[in-house]
Amino acid sequence: MQAESRKISRRTFLKESSVAVAAVSAFTLVRPGRVRGAMTESSRVGAIVLLGPPGAGKSEQGRRLSERHSIPVISTGDQLREHVKRGTPFGLQADPYMKAGKLVPDSLMNPILEERLSQPDCVRGFILDGYPRTLAQAEDLDVLLKNKGLAPHVILLDVPTERLLKLLSGRRVCPNCRRTYNLYYQPPKKEGVCDVDGTALVQRPDDQPKVIRRRLDTYQKETQPAIDYYLRQGRLLRVNGNQTPEKVAAEIESKLASQ
Ligand code: ADP
Repeated sequence: MQAESRKISRRTFLKESSVAVAAVSAFTLVRPGRVRGAMTESSRVGAIVLLGPPGAGKSEQGRRLSERHSIPVISTGDQLREHVKRGTPFGLQADPYMKAGKLVPDSLMNPILEERLSQPDCVRGFILDGYPRTLAQAEDLDVLLKNKGLAPHVILLDVPTERLLKLLSGRRVCPNCRRTYNLYYQPPKKEGVCDVDGTALVQRPDDQPKVIRRRLDTYQKETQPAIDYYLRQGRLLRVNGNQTPEKVAAEIESKLASQ
């Protein structure tokens, strides 16, 4: 299984993703304008892509978008952590990359994403948090969506580096419900425990200062080309991430509605 997964090339992934392609095509038959206005039970939202540096608040905004539009957030980081926790062959291989703050190779990442996208809860649409993270992944995603003449809604959360450092080093996560807090900006009501379910909050191993630097460097080097790619296509919706989560959410909704 391990050796096999290493052998899966990008091309093979796309070829073998026919099931996922079919699933994605079926529910993303939506033009960007469809996000506008009130969502009904039966309406399709399509694919919303959340881009931004580590710590920019993608998971918080993903949660809000998910509640508002009743579609799941697919966080590739959470998917990978789940595989690590379960000790799957993918998880065992991905773990050292994640601990080092490096990107997990596409040969591991893409099949995990493919599997998740084929789940029935994605039928009306989904929010991608943490994917694409490279130009290659952006192109892979485009192939998936373009197969049926579709384009994703791409949102970029802009946050200055000094604030990112505080956001990342102060981040605490509830291991039970995945809600995130920040010691500087959004502390829990009671120190050290989740407001929702009272579980003790934890700090992610990759939120250690040395690893934070590496993750920010990786973002600059690897993800910036993906952002430039969307920029060139005129699809990038820039949102000021340096404001309260409520204001960020409102700006996202208004940008989506005006697209
Ligand atoms: P953050 O965005 O705050 O860095 P995530 O939870 O999104 O955190 O990701 C944690 C780690 O998971 C990343 O540092 C990386 O190792 C891995 N990862 C997540 N998404 C991807 C992806 N699309 N491609 C490769 N690796 C990924």
